[in-house]
Amino acid sequence: MQVYTCPFCGLRDEREFFFAGEAGAARPDTTGPVSDAEWADYVHMRRNALGRAREVWMHLTCGELFVMERDTLSARVLESVALRAEPGSGEGAGSAEASGGPDSASGPDGEGAP
Ligand SMILES: [Zn+2]
Repeated sequence: MQVYTCPFCGLRDEREFFFAGEAGAARPDTTGPVSDAEWADYVHMRRNALGRAREVWMHLTCGELFVMERDTLSARVLESVALRAEPGSGEGAGSAEASGGPDSASGPDGEGAP
């Protein structure tokens, strides 16, 4: 059994978490035409990176979404960062991804780096 860190609840059993997708996927710009191939790529294609990966996870117990950075080779968790904004802060809890859900989890460089 593995233990993951929820930014709100601390260390918890892996069975309390749900994988919501890779972080950093750039949603197609819908201000112009978007082809079926572009949508299919956005919805279905994943990098499935070997090594460091940034992923959006949900802690089912508290219902919060967060970005977990982990090493897919060693299964070691490197960082867990909240997605939601803290009240009154105007920004997220230490993350550039705080303004949206999994679809907007990318940073300004499109790679999800804070
Ligand atoms: Zn939690």
